Amino acid sequence: MLEGIITKGYSGFYYVHSGVQLWECSLRGRFRLNAQDFLPGDRVKISPLKGTKGVIEEVLPRINSLIRPAIANVDQVVVVSAASEPEPDFNLLDRILIQVDAAKIAPLICINKADLVSPDELEELVKPYQKTGYALIEVSVKSGQGIAELRQVLKDKISVFAGSSGVGKSSLLNAVQPGLELKMGEVSQKLRRGRHTTRHVELLQLEFGGLVADTPGFSSLNLPAMQRQDLAGFFPEIQELAHKCRFTTCVHWQEPQCAVKDGVEQGIINPKRYKNYLSFLSEVIEQERRY
Ligand code: GDP
Ligand code: ZN
Repeated sequence: MLEGIITKGYSGFYYVHSGVQLWECSLRGRFRLNAQDFLPGDRVKISPLKGTKGVIEEVLPRINSLIRPAIANVDQVVVVSAASEPEPDFNLLDRILIQVDAAKIAPLICINKADLVSPDELEELVKPYQKTGYALIEVSVKSGQGIAELRQVLKDKISVFAGSSGVGKSSLLNAVQPGLELKMGEVSQKLRRGRHTTRHVELLQLEFGGLVADTPGFSSLNLPAMQRQDLAGFFPEIQELAHKCRFTTCVHWQEPQCAVKDGVEQGIINPKRYKNYLSFLSEVIEQERRY
């Protein structure tokens, strides 16, 4: 038997990439025909039949899975933001970082269009995230800065890109591998194939190794369901100070003797990050009320 990764499922068939070639596979009869059981990204064992045809015999356990796009075993989400045009939306960036964390996937922040700002402006943008320990790269499709580095981080991994439209997701992927056809924009109704509204997500193969989803993820704006005390856990720099707060139930908002609020005043915690924390906190409290 061979081991491979499903890159696409389409009307009962699954394309499985084994590292050397692409196999067109059907399922062993004993498997229920439930699309959720076999996602792009799933590692499977196949028996080769004639030519490039094969049969999926076994699915290996998943590390994680995303719902939108429906992909299993995602190694990283490349969260793209532009340094300018459009202006960086830090609320959205922080929101996506929380969603990625909640999905137990590693984020990589990618600041594109570095050519449009001065080195000082760029430094100002990235500092709070680098200080917090997030993996971050500065790139420019226009100047070519950071593209080799991006290739390096995509190599041999399953990646999903995220970020609002216009930040340069499609341009980046085409810079990484010219000709990589990506429908990174909003998926229009007419692109949806088949009778159902299911979109057939595809993992595209990078010639230097690695797979990339053909559609961006994390376009939904909702924060994951959580209790208000859980939110700080999604902000590593806030979490780090939280144990010094007077109250163990402190949500770092109106409580006295809060180490996090002190941290903001002392410049240890970036005020923009704290502002987003507070805005998410009110959302989480609002959500709590609805349950
Ligand atoms: P997407 O919606 O995230 O896929 O963004 P696109 O790849 O369609 O890019 C949006 C616009 O930004 C296009 O006009 C690109 O030419 C432009 N763009 C992309 N990357 C860069 C860059 O590094 N620098 C500059 N100046 N423009 C860029
Ligand atoms: Zn506190």
